[in-house]
Amino acid sequence: MRTSQYLLSTVKETPSDAEIISHKLMLRAGMIRRLGTGMFSYLPTGVRVLRKVEEIVRQEMNKAGAIEVLLPMVQPAELWQESGRWHTMDAELLRFKDRHQRDYILGPTHEEVITDLVRREITSYKQLPLNLYQVQTKFRDERRPRFGVMRAREFIMKDAYSFHLGQASLQQTYDAMYSAYCNIFNRLGLDYRPVQADSGAIGGSVSHEFHVLAESGEDAIAFSDSSDYAANIEMAEALEPKGERPAATKALCEVATPDAGTVSEVAALLQVSNSTIAKTLFVLAEADEQGKQQLVALVLRGDHDLNELKAEKLDGIASPLQFANDEQIRALCGAGAGSVGPVGLNIKIIADRSAVHMADFVVGANKDGYHLTGVNWERDIPQYQVADIRNIVAGDPSPCGFGNLIIKRGIEVGHIFQLGEKYSKALKAGVLNEEGKHQTMTMGCYGVGVSRIVAAAIEQNHDEYGIIWPDAIAPFQVALIPMNMHKSVRIAEVTEQLYQQLTAAGVDVLFDDRRERPGVMFADMELIGVPHTIVVGERNLDNQQVEYKNRRTGEKVMLDIATVVTEIQ
Ligand code: ATP
Ligand code: MG
Ligand code: MG
Ligand code: MG
Repeated sequence: MRTSQYLLSTVKETPSDAEIISHKLMLRAGMIRRLGTGMFSYLPTGVRVLRKVEEIVRQEMNKAGAIEVLLPMVQPAELWQESGRWHTMDAELLRFKDRHQRDYILGPTHEEVITDLVRREITSYKQLPLNLYQVQTKFRDERRPRFGVMRAREFIMKDAYSFHLGQASLQQTYDAMYSAYCNIFNRLGLDYRPVQADSGAIGGSVSHEFHVLAESGEDAIAFSDSSDYAANIEMAEALEPKGERPAATKALCEVATPDAGTVSEVAALLQVSNSTIAKTLFVLAEADEQGKQQLVALVLRGDHDLNELKAEKLDGIASPLQFANDEQIRALCGAGAGSVGPVGLNIKIIADRSAVHMADFVVGANKDGYHLTGVNWERDIPQYQVADIRNIVAGDPSPCGFGNLIIKRGIEVGHIFQLGEKYSKALKAGVLNEEGKHQTMTMGCYGVGVSRIVAAAIEQNHDEYGIIWPDAIAPFQVALIPMNMHKSVRIAEVTEQLYQQLTAAGVDVLFDDRRERPGVMFADMELIGVPHTIVVGERNLDNQQVEYKNRRTGEKVMLDIATVVTEIQ
């Protein structure tokens, strides 16, 4: 590529509306432009990086046995009514009507669509397991779009969905996806950690997130200093060092008023993330057949005695259940003996189509149907207040029982999840099993934030001059900079020849053939983060040499012209 024929669109000034470095640099490097709130156009340099990320993701997905499909972004409301999410998802779900007044949504995710597809295509256990993926645009009407493409409303995700006969097969694919994700993030050259995700709130299902470690991360990750334990503390906001620790009881009382509002407002009041609420709502939606009562759960960690409390089934079928001791609760939570499992603190709310209202509090284990009612917080569980969760601090004992916690900030770039039968049951997606009987399929889902990765990579790879791309996703591998080419035929010829040779060798080269001062060219190439620069100058040509500069290390060496192509490859 020649800059004269390219759209470089670099900007010197630091944009005033960008808060974090990746957003600033993506604007300055001419990668993206804002169209509206949380919506961005990608310029050529942005597209190049995006495509490289996608390619690595595709290769690893294909290698792991997943098959590519492409599903519509616009989805009919009927499917979301069938799954129940039409009623349980908050304002993040963008709804609209067509000319016939039929309801639609813009896909924030594709569980419904894929389950609908698979229930029509797959009839026999012999066709399983099946893992389908796509790379596609999602739309989520985020409460707080910010940080450029990091938290956009329209963004690109790779989402995969696997279908199985039984848990063992799901576990196998889940493990394969876990490895594929590690391969992806290794190849991308990112410093990342797989962490246990907020599975406590959703019935002991297995879930892992992949986080790129960066100060600007919206999530807080707790690691044990002496084991592999790593988990997302979804209550990241409260870990901000500034400000007072909020009083738990107060927060609960404030919420304990009728008409507390929408899920977003409840989440804001409780200072938990919207997704904690939304995920829990979705999971617990099953508990109620009327589709009206929902629960919001917060995850508490710790030990407590629930002996005295009365439990009942959520669906209203009176079935009082006495928890004998904490062990039983741990068993329900799926926590190992001796460890302290996550225990849910649930708030019962009544949902209608437009708003979610608060009724009363429920507390219990994180398993559908097992919850305690009539709890008086201060009286019954004084040591388990919301503040406890938010106040996890570095140095606390690790819940895994080994070592103490280290806390770092992370950017969620991937999320894998064992869905079980949540969607397949709701959408009646089954196959005939070996005995010829109808059996509901078991599902997993696996997301990668393709566009978010681009921003996350910049958060980890930049300096005061601009972006420093890892080789694997750089928009160009090599910047070819001739010094005063327009005054020297020799320089023009040698640069042109190198350009042809490198291009023929399959190297992505940006040949800066503009009539610009060398300083301007260097600054632009550093800003857009090209990893390798070749400078063709009059004096070095006398020795048949050019200068090579490494963007990351700053190292400069002289190369014989004849060896440039082999050295670069
Ligand atoms: P978050 O907690 O950041 O809101 P999420 O848990 O809602 O993310 P998932 O439903 O797990 O997101 O989606 C899979 C992946 O899609 C995420 O791991 C993330 O990388 C990416 N993603 C989610 N929301 C956004 C967004 N608004 N902008 C860009 N990428 C996103
Ligand atoms: Mg999340
Ligand atoms: Mg979210
Ligand atoms: Mg997630």
